[in-house]
Amino acid sequence: MHAVVIAGGGPTGLMLAGELALAGVDVAIVERRASQDLAGSRAGGLHARTIEVLDQRGIADRFLEQGQVAQVAGFAGVPLDISDFPTRHNYGLGLWQKHIERILAGWVDELEVPIHRGREVTGFGQDDTGVDVELSDGMSLRAEYLVGCDGGRSVVRKAAGIEFPGWDPTTSSLIAVAEMAEEPELGIRRDALGVHALGKLEYEVRDGEVVYMDGGPVGVMVTEQHVGPTSEPTLRELSEALVVVYGTDYGIHSPTYISRFTDMTRQAAAYRDRRVLLAGDAAHVHAPDGGQGLNTGVQDAVNLGWKLAQVVSGTAPESLLDTYHAERHPVAARVLRHTMASIALRRPDERTKALRDTTAELLGMDEPRKRLAAMQSGLDIHYDLGEGHPLLGRRMPDLDLVTADGPLRVFTLLHAARPVLLNFGEPGGFDISPWADRVRSIDANYGGTWELPALGAVTAPAAVLIRPDGYVAWVGDRASLGLADALTTWFGPPSAA
Ligand SMILES: Cc1cc2nc3c(=O)[nH]c(=O)nc-3n(C[C@H](O)[C@H](O)[C@H](O)COP(=O)(O)OP(=O)(O)OC[C@H]3O[C@@H](n4cnc5c(N)ncnc54)[C@H](O)[C@@H]3O)c2cc1C
Repeated sequence: MHAVVIAGGGPTGLMLAGELALAGVDVAIVERRASQDLAGSRAGGLHARTIEVLDQRGIADRFLEQGQVAQVAGFAGVPLDISDFPTRHNYGLGLWQKHIERILAGWVDELEVPIHRGREVTGFGQDDTGVDVELSDGMSLRAEYLVGCDGGRSVVRKAAGIEFPGWDPTTSSLIAVAEMAEEPELGIRRDALGVHALGKLEYEVRDGEVVYMDGGPVGVMVTEQHVGPTSEPTLRELSEALVVVYGTDYGIHSPTYISRFTDMTRQAAAYRDRRVLLAGDAAHVHAPDGGQGLNTGVQDAVNLGWKLAQVVSGTAPESLLDTYHAERHPVAARVLRHTMASIALRRPDERTKALRDTTAELLGMDEPRKRLAAMQSGLDIHYDLGEGHPLLGRRMPDLDLVTADGPLRVFTLLHAARPVLLNFGEPGGFDISPWADRVRSIDANYGGTWELPALGAVTAPAAVLIRPDGYVAWVGDRASLGLADALTTWFGPPSAA
């Protein structure tokens, strides 16, 4: 019996496992793949808010050290620079998904989360006290909660009977790594079908110039003439797609990997059915444009982890789990809308090109650039926690504080994934002793300005209550009401003295 079983150890499942383990929850992952190795490339990096979220746990450097910091945000081909954003991480990170997963798996391993590899979740049955999770080897696991982090074709979502409404694909592309008998035309090609690209995987950098090696495997991305079937793509389909675009398949052979991606756009109607929850691609799928899929999944996990931990430990009521859907469903819905718009602008006809040029002109202005870039980088997320100070429901900035123990960054206070009350007013101004077992209270000074991405400067608050996911749950001072209510809502009822 585990408190939580996670189906799927991709980026979302790994992040969730780490969050639960930090909170002391007995969690296990069931992962279909025999090892963490990932065929093909998939996600190419992280946006700023995901880097911040990793920084909140003290593990951002592990990723930054292995990737390439860059301005990665962009919409419909227009780069969106965020270097003037008020965050320590005013950039994205180029890092292939296989490395992101490897680093996350290393962290989860340190936290001693068991991973049942080479096994699939095939179904489940739930009752009032738990879930029986059925595995492909005929065994079953009992858990209080099951979280489906099992990707876009989620077995958990289907078995739960959760609807997945949305839009069928309008375009599809094949991606592959294979050998070619002839030298291909390297680089990007655009035509009436869309964008295609061929690139050598093996190259050397000589005098700062990339020099491709003769022969060796070629990375292929080719947009198909018609939307391909949902079955696994074959070498023959890849060859045919190349002939349509390049007039030849360059003698393609010996693929190590072939996959198809589309702009199918769908979102789970509910992120929760009693003791079963969904996160990541299991809850939302969309085109890769904008590179937000993995980022959204990792942030789903960080929203859900501390809530589920408190529910299984009995500190907070089960209803806390409903805030997961209420907060994260709208975030992914925006991502879906944004990627659909981006794909629509990619169409090669002249009228769409005119619209794309007009959009590019608008994005050349500061205000539209900031808004769209803040959205895409995840820095503008605003959970609806009611009226109040602009910080309410928004990410807490990583300020440089001065405390009785010396200088301290806000994110350092979040490493253990525990809530914090930061008091900038008169020291010892708040008595939260009925929550002292759960919430840290810290007196701090901060002399700088308070600035939020896309919003700009906001008035300095006297005190803020920060949730473990780094979002502000309450803003006020000693005279304000609502602190006890906020503490109860998010961290459970007061303990008896
Ligand atoms: C070409 C391409 C480019 C992309 N580029 C980006 C990008 O730049 N940025 C970005 O943020 N996102 C990008 N994405 C999206 C990103 O890859 C996904 O959003 C991300 O992998 C989702 O993570 P996940 O953990 O939710 O799901 P997955 O990565 O799909 O992981 C699901 C895991 O569950 C396992 N599994 C599945 N079924 C079962 C089962 N029944 N039982 C047990 N285990 C199971 C799988 O083996 C897998 O490990 C891209 C995707 C593609 C295809």
